Amino acid sequence: MEYEVTIGLEIHSELKTDTKLFCGCRNDFGGEPNTRCCPVCLGLPGTLPVLNKKALELAIRAGLAMNCKISEFSKFDRKNYFYPDMPKAYQVTQYNLPICYDGYVDIETDNGIKRIGIERIHLEEDAGKLVHDAYADGSLIDYNRCGVPLIEIVTRPEINSAEEAKALFETIKSILEYTDVSDCKMQEGSLRADVNISVRPRGQEKLGVRTEIKNLNSIRAVYRAAQGEARRQIEVLSEGGIVCQETRRWDDKKGESMAMRNKEESMDYRYFPEPDLLPVIVDRDWIDSIRKSLPELPRARRDRYVNELGIPEYDAALITMNRKLADLFDRAAAVCGKPKLASNFIMTDIMRRINDQGEGILASSLNGDNLGEVLLFLDQGKITHASAAKVIDVIIETGEKPDNIIERLELWVQRDENLVNEIVKSVLEANRQALEDYLAGKEKAFGFLMGQVMSRLKGKGDPAQVRETLLREINKG
Ligand SMILES: [Zn+2]
Repeated sequence: MEYEVTIGLEIHSELKTDTKLFCGCRNDFGGEPNTRCCPVCLGLPGTLPVLNKKALELAIRAGLAMNCKISEFSKFDRKNYFYPDMPKAYQVTQYNLPICYDGYVDIETDNGIKRIGIERIHLEEDAGKLVHDAYADGSLIDYNRCGVPLIEIVTRPEINSAEEAKALFETIKSILEYTDVSDCKMQEGSLRADVNISVRPRGQEKLGVRTEIKNLNSIRAVYRAAQGEARRQIEVLSEGGIVCQETRRWDDKKGESMAMRNKEESMDYRYFPEPDLLPVIVDRDWIDSIRKSLPELPRARRDRYVNELGIPEYDAALITMNRKLADLFDRAAAVCGKPKLASNFIMTDIMRRINDQGEGILASSLNGDNLGEVLLFLDQGKITHASAAKVIDVIIETGEKPDNIIERLELWVQRDENLVNEIVKSVLEANRQALEDYLAGKEKAFGFLMGQVMSRLKGKGDPAQVRETLLREINKG
């Protein structure tokens, strides 16, 4: 029997604010445990929360960037649960009136563009962190993260494969980065996803029983968990079993999921309106001004690269996925005036460095201005490609100016006619066998002679000039 997979994502993203959602404590990753908390985020009796306006603005920003409607009237609710990571024994969240609802994002699939609905985006506070490993005889709690502002983005169950889940997650991540809503540092947990999955026999109308895999904190984990869980459910069903509605945990090392607990129904949380916070009433004009402040989003940027700059679709997609990379490209292309040269160099040399050294190089001294300058020298034939690559390495390390580096390392292309003539003559003299081979029709021998001349020029010769001079001397002789 053939099965159809249905997936929905719930993405939690920490917001880039200075302070927490309802108090003045710093919102920053790390810090000595329990040094960034106060009576409000610890939920001590008698304290009152005050909503952080910046967090509300960022949530609206995310909603607008994902084509959502914005509620002019929304409110906060208490989600009651008893667990030590939340000392109040409830989480302040938004239940039936989320700040954003009914939006969509477009993702790239093998069959073209697919539109995935965003059911809602709501604001809520993060919980503290349990530390299990530090001490053998118990768990400790760090409340620094308690009360950090989050948005939860809930997609409609319109994803049909692990590939689509990955594409959607990547797309939403890049939108959050472009709009400066979140730093999306997945290794620090500021972006994480829950994946809801069910399978059903193809053609059946009713959705299958779904399971939820919680707290996936890398793109790879989302992909592998979606793939693994779909496979597991299909196996269960084809063997005549039934899938239980439950929450599961993904073990990325083992590549399998295991049951954690039965899935709670929302009634288990006894939601009720948060009595300590006023309803949120948002002004139309404010929403419009937030809308106007949105930057060019990945999709629009990519279309501009393809249609206006003639960049290949694949390259444009890859470059725009990362805002810093796209900014680097934009500036470098403007400085050197050659968008294709800039995109080619980024797709090869810069991508290779990102793969080897990590995304940190995009936060180094390398920027669009100095990259553009290097590309300009390359385009004008003043340095070779190998030299350009060398200059980039030095820039990343020291931030030195391109022309200084080229001067200091003597990388300018050597075009001195007398010098080139002299070297060509002496190379031909010293390699008579190669010369004879070439004259006897062995093309390879010419490459060898070229190489000899280039190496005597320390790799800085102009290949066209060297070739020309070599041919001229050979034909003379
Ligand atoms: Zn606090």
